Amino acid sequence: MAAPTDSAGISSRPAVRAGTVPWVAMYHSVGDCSDDPYRITVTPGRLEQQLAWLHRRGLRGVTLRELFSARARGEGRGLVALTFDDGYADFLTHALPVLHRWNCGATLFVLPGRFGGVNSWDPLGPRKALLTAEGVRHAAAAGVEIGSHGLTHVDLTRVDDITLGAEAAHSRALLEELTGAPVDGFCYPYGTVDRRVVSAVRDAGYAYACAIDPGPLTGRHALPRLHVGQNDTSWRLHLKYRLHRLRRRPVGGV
Ligand SMILES: [Zn+2]
Repeated sequence: MAAPTDSAGISSRPAVRAGTVPWVAMYHSVGDCSDDPYRITVTPGRLEQQLAWLHRRGLRGVTLRELFSARARGEGRGLVALTFDDGYADFLTHALPVLHRWNCGATLFVLPGRFGGVNSWDPLGPRKALLTAEGVRHAAAAGVEIGSHGLTHVDLTRVDDITLGAEAAHSRALLEELTGAPVDGFCYPYGTVDRRVVSAVRDAGYAYACAIDPGPLTGRHALPRLHVGQNDTSWRLHLKYRLHRLRRRPVGGV
């Protein structure tokens, strides 16, 4: 639908300022990656090297909340949002100490319908333990931004409206109750999105949401992210960063 126009043909809708798409890095698990068919794991040593690389480039890893509040002030250059999906128990033991050492923040997307469980949605395994509710509270108390990954890790483009509403809104309510803090970030399981899913997440009150490669849906509620894996040594990160800078284009509302 076209924006409403006045008699002079000028849009009466407030202009959405176009911004460049921020760099958002996507991690999952931090630990032993010898059996890792989905390439979701980096070792603590590799994470350490990657954060050291950011530091050498004059970049700093932050939460999505910090990234967006800096951008709202016209700042944010040099900030990279670090996101960790699924809420693996190894976040507390292996990721957090490294993040603290490099003075980095991070946003952790958790599944309140699976606290204390395992990643049974990945058919090939290996099974990895997920944080308990107490573990998530512990991460929040350590300054980690807690975001929702839905309730149970389902592909939201394939569920009915009632399930979609519950995955988006109920997970947010549960996490706000658990942490006693606002939950502003959402992350689409599998990175899959369509217009209906993006609308439901926006309607549930989230301020921003992470996808992986959302194409034309790119915006504050469908942020593209860069997968960072065990093979991403310094020079590969350098290439990815350069590529992101070349590819990023002005998009309204981010
Ligand atoms: Zn996930």
